Amino acid sequence: MHLLRNAGNSGAAWRRNLFFLWLSAAAILPAGGEDPVVVYITNSGRRYHREDCSSLRRSRVPVTLRDAVQSGYEPCLICDPPVLISRAPGRPGIYRVNRENPINCEGVEFARLVRAEVVGHIDGDTIRVQIPSPPEELRTLETVRLIGVDTPETVHPRRGLEAFGKEASDFTKSRLLGTTVYLAFDWELRDRYGRLLAYVYTQDRRCHNAQIIRQGFGHAYTRYSFHFMEEFRRMEQEARKEKRGLWGGASSN
Ligand SMILES: [Zn+2]
Repeated sequence: MHLLRNAGNSGAAWRRNLFFLWLSAAAILPAGGEDPVVVYITNSGRRYHREDCSSLRRSRVPVTLRDAVQSGYEPCLICDPPVLISRAPGRPGIYRVNRENPINCEGVEFARLVRAEVVGHIDGDTIRVQIPSPPEELRTLETVRLIGVDTPETVHPRRGLEAFGKEASDFTKSRLLGTTVYLAFDWELRDRYGRLLAYVYTQDRRCHNAQIIRQGFGHAYTRYSFHFMEEFRRMEQEARKEKRGLWGGASSN
């Protein structure tokens, strides 16, 4: 941290640091079985960012998250980039499944989830919740995007009403609206729109994200990695095989 800060005052040393960071990022990329998480730093700042952060207008240097953290960079407060799991010990109230390592999505430690009331419903994979006593990182009212699942849109500005969008939306509405749910989180707390990214559990301890996929109201959304990705993929395969919901071919549009 101090080393880097001092180096920042001298142009040559600073550029050398950036070069080494860049080198190590480039060296890691093709090697591992697992893609390293890449974040972005600037020439003058001491924080690291997501790719789309407004702080990156002047300069952006991709580095691996691990290198950024080991070089003393702190996460940006605006774009809330990913953190190394080992750097976020004991955040009270926030249950991050990666650290707890449950085998499957319904193996979470239920007593540690955040309790919330579902006060609004947006579509199959997005709800509004009220959190009676929010932990530090959460607000009383939040929009929650369910992790790892994508349902057909009900009202999309360009695509309009997609096949099965209403069924998916009704499924979530009938199961969740007006009920108490419990939230668990993965490595990323919010998306770029500021929505909470969560696994939503109903009182019967079922993971609603998974239920949507199991019943064929949506597919596993694997563009961004999450802890139960393989499990969700398998559920989708099963739902396709059984021709459930949107995999049945018949749309009631
Ligand atoms: Zn940022």
